[in-house]
Amino acid sequence: MKVLVLNSGSSSIKYQFIETTTRQVLARGQVERIGMDDAVLSHVRIDGDTVKFSAEILDHNIAIEYVVAILLSKNHGVIKDKSEIEAVGHRVVHGGEEFSGSVLVTDEVIEKIKENIELAPLHNPHNLRGIIACKRLLPDTPQVAVFDTAFHQKMPEHAFIYGLPYELYKKYKIRRYGFHGTSHRYVSKRASEILGVPIEKLRIITAHLGNGCSMAAVMYGVSVDTTMGFTPLEGLLMGTRSGDIDPAIVLYIMGKEGLSMAEVNALLNKHSGLLGISGVSSDMREIIEEMRNGNPRARLAFDVFCYRIKKYIGAYSAVMGGVDAIVFTAGIGENSPDVRKKICEGLEFLGIKIDDEKNNSPEREKIITTDDSLVKVLVIPTNEELVIALDTAEIVSKVLANTK
Ligand code: AMP
Repeated sequence: MKVLVLNSGSSSIKYQFIETTTRQVLARGQVERIGMDDAVLSHVRIDGDTVKFSAEILDHNIAIEYVVAILLSKNHGVIKDKSEIEAVGHRVVHGGEEFSGSVLVTDEVIEKIKENIELAPLHNPHNLRGIIACKRLLPDTPQVAVFDTAFHQKMPEHAFIYGLPYELYKKYKIRRYGFHGTSHRYVSKRASEILGVPIEKLRIITAHLGNGCSMAAVMYGVSVDTTMGFTPLEGLLMGTRSGDIDPAIVLYIMGKEGLSMAEVNALLNKHSGLLGISGVSSDMREIIEEMRNGNPRARLAFDVFCYRIKKYIGAYSAVMGGVDAIVFTAGIGENSPDVRKKICEGLEFLGIKIDDEKNNSPEREKIITTDDSLVKVLVIPTNEELVIALDTAEIVSKVLANTK
């Protein structure tokens, strides 16, 4: 099935057009600066043909019109008729407690995504805009929503309830949700394929280390705990986000510095993490470079980043009564042997033996432990778009089979 995968943000839409049977990406691209008169569309076709142009793209409707037009275009396109877009799969950040899997988009689903806007005000409205634009532009094409939170919805209550008055959970749904679920699901499943062991028999710790970072304890195929919480701010140290801190610090800083809620929100989300500690950059490549140049704060940022991940490996091994595999993914996890090595140093007691040669080798997908290591450590490039496309194809095929 040919599926258009859309990731709609506030001012950008990323897309991939995927043939799910062959898993080929027929075309990919993005529209940036939506809302401006000089928005930019960049598009790459499977054969390498590339096009980039600027246009007035004032909203998501127009942006998606452009995406469909470029897919249809004689010179740069990959289809001859709109009907060749057999389904659309959307990334939706927050599915609240309603969605523990991907679903066909109906009016009822749209209403539920709207209800969850309060939980993800920076993401869900834009995801929804993408869905509504497709409904208008491709009214006969089925659409599927794939939620970042869904994979974590089977977490047990003791892992998702905070130590707050229980009424706050009932009243405002304040609980741990977790994010990056599509990525954790994909890499844990892929790890079981690579290891040749059914996922139902594996206890896997997945570490998605990109600009945003999170880990999950995936026990026999189910996410039983994850580091991100009510929002993506909790847990690991990230590019610009603090991750775990003592909540009393927030009140203390607000008093000391006279910060407003918006200012403290920006401080925790945009000025903390690697950037906040190093004072140099939120980008791990620059942190490592500065560290090599002898910058002590870059070294500190690197150490704090790795230490916290190691700490959660310990915690999640305890949660699952052991660990069989650890997976590193996303920008840092996939590309930084230094980070992987530092995290795994001292974990020999758990049964982890890193093979330096494998850790430093150029393969994208690999096992980086020695053959006799009891716990296997893997590097697996994440592929959220593929998961969205495959979920979409599966759900739409079922619906079509039932309507025949
Ligand atoms: P993502 O959000 O998955 O695109 O990941 C972005 C993060 O990956 C940034 O912190 C980059 O610095 C980091 N990254 C990308 N390539 C490398 C690399 N070769 N070494 C270290 N970090 C990298």
